Amino acid sequence: MDFRANPATLANAIASRETTPIMMAGTATRPERPAEVGMVLDAVVVGAGFAGMYMLHRLRGLGFSARVFEAGGGVGGTWYWNRYPGARCDVESMQYSFSFSEELDQQWNWSEKYAPQPEILCYANHVADRFDLRRHIVFDTRVTAATFDEDAKCWLIETDRGDRVSAKFLIMAVGCLSAPNRPRFSGIEDFRGPVYHTGEWPHEGVDFTGLRVGVIGTGSSAVQSIPIIAQQASSLTVFQRTATWSVPAWNEKLTPEYLQAAKADYPALRAKARARPTGFYFPYNLKPALEASAEERDQQYEEAWARGGLPFLGAYGDLLFEKAANDTIADFARAKIRGIVKDPATAELLCPDNVFGCKRLCVDTGYFETYNMPHVKLVDVSRTPIERFTADGIEVNGIEYRLDAVVCATGFAAMTGSFDKIRITGRNSLTLAEKWRAGPRAYLGIASVGFPNLFMITGPGSPSVLASMIQAIEQHVDWLADCIGHMRDVGATSIEPTPRDEDAWVEHVNDVSTVSLRSTCSSWYVGTNIAGRPRVFMPYIGGFPVYVQKCNEVMSGGFDGFVLEGAPASNAAPQVRYTERWRVPIDIEVISPAALAARRVPMV
Ligand code: FAD
Ligand code: NAP
Repeated sequence: MDFRANPATLANAIASRETTPIMMAGTATRPERPAEVGMVLDAVVVGAGFAGMYMLHRLRGLGFSARVFEAGGGVGGTWYWNRYPGARCDVESMQYSFSFSEELDQQWNWSEKYAPQPEILCYANHVADRFDLRRHIVFDTRVTAATFDEDAKCWLIETDRGDRVSAKFLIMAVGCLSAPNRPRFSGIEDFRGPVYHTGEWPHEGVDFTGLRVGVIGTGSSAVQSIPIIAQQASSLTVFQRTATWSVPAWNEKLTPEYLQAAKADYPALRAKARARPTGFYFPYNLKPALEASAEERDQQYEEAWARGGLPFLGAYGDLLFEKAANDTIADFARAKIRGIVKDPATAELLCPDNVFGCKRLCVDTGYFETYNMPHVKLVDVSRTPIERFTADGIEVNGIEYRLDAVVCATGFAAMTGSFDKIRITGRNSLTLAEKWRAGPRAYLGIASVGFPNLFMITGPGSPSVLASMIQAIEQHVDWLADCIGHMRDVGATSIEPTPRDEDAWVEHVNDVSTVSLRSTCSSWYVGTNIAGRPRVFMPYIGGFPVYVQKCNEVMSGGFDGFVLEGAPASNAAPQVRYTERWRVPIDIEVISPAALAARRVPMV
């Protein structure tokens, strides 16, 4: 179909769905629609999670024409796909939510301290309706390729539905944890039962009642789902390659009184969160653990354990920087595991021997307690890996564990996995995959040399997964909206980082990572959860406000480190429309000058 002859076709296809109920991917087949060829847009956004939704909102607010392409059948991204039992956020919901609209903050009521997945998905749908986003989102459509046209200075975007549209800006909102890691276990196709991945959970749910279930993995998804699956299954076998650190959530219902009190001061809470290294607020103790006596430390850890959650790592300021300090919290947490798990051999197997909090810390409800149930078994696959699937189960070290269903809680090709699946071709026919073969390279985690007018939301080299992600998303989107608005103001046709500034930023990201113990272990932060990926510490660990300050300076300096083409005043200081709210002073109570000087910025 020649789009130019019928410019409304795609819009009609989208609009026709406005009247239909929200579609749940996995429960519905993809609705038929004609492929769209030739549409010309200001911006194409890939992904309709929180990042893509907010980007669309901002672009439309500035009067730009935009389309979002989303592989799933609805909005919400992570919360659309990860419907496994027990899925919920691990940043408190009052903070794990958009902060750009005070009305939204005031009107939405979270039911629990850590909201469950269905409620977060409901929130995403509410946001989509409230801001009328759905009519510019094309669901059930995966972007497969994007090619930069150097003459026209625009991107040609192709999808698996045959669409071919062009846009001046291509904005990747594809998510940091959105490409499931499905290890290629030998014989998996012979297994007679179903195999699920937590990140692609069937929308109709799974009933494990009376079944012998195997779970592979012990990361956050496993830690959340294992206690619930254990309640249903007739037997549960957990295959553990690396024991995990986990802290109790102490999740609870939020009372109307709590909500009222919190909302009375919501803007202040949001502002405090922005000033924090993690992008969310919690009481933090900057004092070094090694300066406290053993008794003081124990008391401090007990109190922090009793509060639970990720803030446990805020018990002292040096826990992620001094191995000896980390040993003290690790010993405390191991004692907790041994105190909970009754069988000594199982308890020992569950005690991690790596740095506490090196991999992303897990937050659980009854995870370790689950191993006291007589029908739950832990199988160590650290030295003798899973050999194969058989028709009836999984074989490890010559022993067959007979199973009816298997859950792969095996995580994601983090940070770059969803980029890898799209053929992105920039200047001089260079593909992003080729450029990133030895690890991702991006200036501020926002843009990459050779790929003009392509932006990433929470891309590698930005705080992203080391901050409360919705805050990180909002800050990027506001920055991009101001940048794109500025380009229109001055008539700039393209923007691209300079090689010098990109190299310096990538080097800085690497340098800062080495001050943290987090760089020392094998995890998805460094890509080594998947064989063959280069070992690079991908997120920026220098702290959210430090990073935001850098972004502000880059913008105030007329897009320092970027080349803008097409207008003489391109690199003038821009009109700051949305980034104003990120220009808050760094909270020196938390990031003391000494901590900054040592670049010992506490992180969760
Ligand atoms: P996503 O939500 O991942 O959305 C990306 C979207 O892009 C997806 O819908 C995907 O289908 C789409 N997409 C990708 N490639 C294509 C393509 N080629 N074409 C079309 N569409 C495409 N973070 C926190 O800060 N706190 C938490 O408590 C927390 N809990 C989490 C729990 C789980 C189970 C997981 C997996 C992650 C969690 N995270 C958490 C991280 C979470 O990913 C972010 O908080 C946030 O939801 C990311 O939003 P996003 O829009 O950037 O990406
Ligand atoms: P993950 O943390 O990467 O955990 C994957 C698990 O699978 C690990 O235990 C891993 O072992 C194991 N594994 C992978 N391949 C294996 C193989 N071939 N054989 C045996 N074991 C294998 O993934 P995730 O649990 O999905 O979590 C990813 C991230 O998403 C989290 O870190 C967090 O940021 C986010 N998340 C958050 C929440 C929340 O609480 N809100 C919930 C879920 C996810 P190794 O450790 O040895 O590699």
